[in-house]
Amino acid sequence: MKIKNIRAREILDSRGNPTLRVYLDTENGEFVAGVPSGASTGEHEAVELRDGEERLMGKGVLKAIEIIENKIAPELKGLKVYDQKKIDQKLLNLDGTDNKSELGANSILGVSIAVCKAGAFYSGMPLYEYIGELSETDPALPRPLFNVINGGSHTGGGVDFQEFMISPQKGSFKDNYFRATEIYHQLGESLRGKNPAWKNIGDEGGYVPELETPEEVLSIIKDLAEVDIVLDVAATEFFEDGSYKMKTGEKDKKEMIDYYKKLTDKFSIIGIEDPLEENDFEGWGELMSETDKIIIGDDLLVTNPQRIKTALKNNSCNGMILKVNQIGTITESLEAAKLAKENNWKIVVSHRSGETTDTFISDFAVGIASEFIKSGAPARGERVAKYNRLLEIEEELNL
Ligand code: PEP
Ligand code: MG
Repeated sequence: MKIKNIRAREILDSRGNPTLRVYLDTENGEFVAGVPSGASTGEHEAVELRDGEERLMGKGVLKAIEIIENKIAPELKGLKVYDQKKIDQKLLNLDGTDNKSELGANSILGVSIAVCKAGAFYSGMPLYEYIGELSETDPALPRPLFNVINGGSHTGGGVDFQEFMISPQKGSFKDNYFRATEIYHQLGESLRGKNPAWKNIGDEGGYVPELETPEEVLSIIKDLAEVDIVLDVAATEFFEDGSYKMKTGEKDKKEMIDYYKKLTDKFSIIGIEDPLEENDFEGWGELMSETDKIIIGDDLLVTNPQRIKTALKNNSCNGMILKVNQIGTITESLEAAKLAKENNWKIVVSHRSGETTDTFISDFAVGIASEFIKSGAPARGERVAKYNRLLEIEEELNL
């Protein structure tokens, strides 16, 4: 089954910003992929190509479409869809840069995902099983992290920490999903209080309460439910001139580490993502030596095997966010996952704050048997599309 042609179009993501939808035409039909986009992006992520002109706030992706249709498509025509590694390598060679700035990680990823879907179809396997074969892993369902309170740059002035995620552990994925939505709605009611009209929502569907501190948010969750919590601090977003500028005052690295110790003593926090800024590998190592929680690198690692190796040298973390668009190809994402697993890190497959309704990451998480997946609140179409896909996969795996 060979590639006949590749087309792309400009669509809008969940924030109303342009992004790519890629159509891979083969002898046996068309395979479609949507490309996500972050807001609190890591400085070291692969480059997302944007037009930069007046049109569509400078965020148009017409150049990326031109690249897909006129540079990438002619090179890939005739290649076999199940040669994922070979096709991804061809894309890397064609780009020729370290950060994918020539073709754009968004152009490359759209093609790489569509090829993966086509490869699964050719092989006659569900997508998650095919990804399991590519990664030499037995598929397994991840534990979901539901982002119920949004802050930081996913809001217009919420609390400093970007994500407060709950992870009920009641039994099946389905049980946990539905338990999460009960807690989400109770939380909404409790935050609304005497004002039934209130419903501030952030980019990932979590509430944006008018609260000042992480402690206030955590206390409200604690009063509602006994549930495991994971934080995404996204600390780089409020790191400026050498210190962490929180609403309640400035903190240096040592004070941040002490603060995390206080929070983890008081609340049922099982993991913290991006607790410190994205270049302080050593500082992360200091935190690691003082806690037994899962310390998860997102902006620190950007799903990049080179940065994962630096983190390993410094013992900076024991968990990794895996975002396919941070690195740009499926093959490199699988390499990152392999490296993390070999070192017993926990993997959190993640959506972006700007999403499409593509559910590829659900199959990807199952295929690599990641410990966790995060796809925002148990609300908003582009978020629940991923969780709803996991419902189907859970049923198939149990048949
Ligand atoms: C994150 O930081 O983990 C996240 C999902 O946000 P963004 O996509 O804005 O980087
Ligand atoms: Mg993050």
